[in-house]
Amino acid sequence: MAADSIEQLRAGVRGALITPGDPSYETARRVYNGMIDKRPALIVRCADAADVIAAVGHARTTGMLTAIRGGGHNGGGLGTCDGGIVIDLSAMKGIRVDPAARTVRVQPGCTGGDMDHATHAFGMATPGGTVSTTGVAGLTLGGGIGHLTRPYGLAIDNLLEVDVVLADGRMVTASEKENADLFWAVRGGGGNFGVVTSFLFRLHPVKMVTAGPTFWPIEQTGEVMRAYQEFILQAPEDVSGFFAFLTVPPVPLFPPELHMKKVCAVIWCSTAGPEKADRLTKPMRAVGKPLLDHVGPMPFPALQSLFDPLLPPGLQWYWRADFVKEFGADAIGKHFEHASKMPPGLSQVHVYPIDGAAHRVGQADTAFSYRDANFALVIVGVDANPAGKDAITTWCKAYFDALHPYSAGGAYVNFMMDEGQERVQAAFRDNYARLALIKGTYDPANLFRVNQNIVPAAAGV
Ligand SMILES: Cc1cc2nc3c(=O)[nH]c(=O)nc-3n(C[C@H](O)[C@H](O)[C@H](O)COP(=O)(O)OP(=O)(O)OC[C@H]3O[C@@H](n4cnc5c(N)ncnc54)[C@H](O)[C@@H]3O)c2cc1C
Repeated sequence: MAADSIEQLRAGVRGALITPGDPSYETARRVYNGMIDKRPALIVRCADAADVIAAVGHARTTGMLTAIRGGGHNGGGLGTCDGGIVIDLSAMKGIRVDPAARTVRVQPGCTGGDMDHATHAFGMATPGGTVSTTGVAGLTLGGGIGHLTRPYGLAIDNLLEVDVVLADGRMVTASEKENADLFWAVRGGGGNFGVVTSFLFRLHPVKMVTAGPTFWPIEQTGEVMRAYQEFILQAPEDVSGFFAFLTVPPVPLFPPELHMKKVCAVIWCSTAGPEKADRLTKPMRAVGKPLLDHVGPMPFPALQSLFDPLLPPGLQWYWRADFVKEFGADAIGKHFEHASKMPPGLSQVHVYPIDGAAHRVGQADTAFSYRDANFALVIVGVDANPAGKDAITTWCKAYFDALHPYSAGGAYVNFMMDEGQERVQAAFRDNYARLALIKGTYDPANLFRVNQNIVPAAAGV
């Protein structure tokens, strides 16, 4: 990369340009997953949309491999690249709540925690994920599954408008009314279509929730998983809870006799008032013999950040995923078999319900194509020690291979590693062809290809 072209870029941006050798380079190149060890040639830490336009222009004219980084949480490390340019949006943290319109406008460096903090002050929230350090940008562009999915839909179901810097350097607004094809594609199609510099979301009246975990011995998996499936699919939409396998962490929050015990669990979140939530969830919380039932009222941001201390950045992560319509007896048996072999520590399995409000959006209404699935399954291998990398990867792959035949066929793009084109196509199913045409229109040279890549159709639309 010619030094004068970097100097030219430096003169045109307000944010920082970070290159190998700079004192901040080693920290700046890191992403959340400690397994990812990539060395970009240039990191442009953008201060505003003008910087993004300049960075995209630099990428286009130099032909450098280009990654877009929001919160840096992508499991496969798709927020960075080797030898290319990283358009780092982490410093763009502006947020504006409009309480009268019940909307929030968010810049792409915001985490879920940033957004929840801002909206909570107004007694409102919009659906995000389940860990507050995750980037709003990447999470939303892939769909956005979390505690509020049953009552209020996916993050994309609440997205009203985005500003996007396109590969050719133009900046456009996309909504139902403007550039509607682009708006359709960014709702689930990931970072394929340009760099989003602003998200406008609809807000809902959510301040306190009734939440917390119920744990059962892992040996009760059969009974609990069957009961959970039956319970959650008929529960009112203001009751939610995801099913999980985990090892109880040795922290004061949990009784010492449970420390390091493998359990199956439901992590509850209900937007109904505490009495109603208690009444509605009681039958499920009484199934089998729970080891712990710790459910009560808490501020929504407290729930969102409950797991943060256990999952700091820099741990080794390997995950695989699939959408699921239902868990039959054979699949439940395989879950028990493989969850029992979960490496001790932080590895987990989550089963998120994606029915309720998310089912009221049609299969082809957005790029997210699994509206007919009831659950998003993710098998997560986590270890603080790099020496544990092989063990978590091997366990995760074997678990996935055993369960994949019982899946709906493809995975949520935000829970995928780098798994090849066939898996990307399986993630979008019938929506893939339309996505490829829109990609052909907005990014025909595939400048934005460090992602779950949609290959541009030659002709565009
Ligand atoms: C601890 C943890 C918990 C999680 N929990 C959930 C959860 O509850 N629900 C859920 O749905 N997902 C969850 N995820 C998955 C998460 O949605 C993805 O990892 C997502 O990619 C993270 O977005 P990011 O902005 O942090 O990532 P980054 O690594 O910064 O970006 C990921 C990709 O998103 C794209 N991208 C990011 N910003 C932009 C932008 N402004 N414009 C265009 N493209 C962009 C790029 O293609 C990039 O490659 C979790 C991940 C982790 C690590």
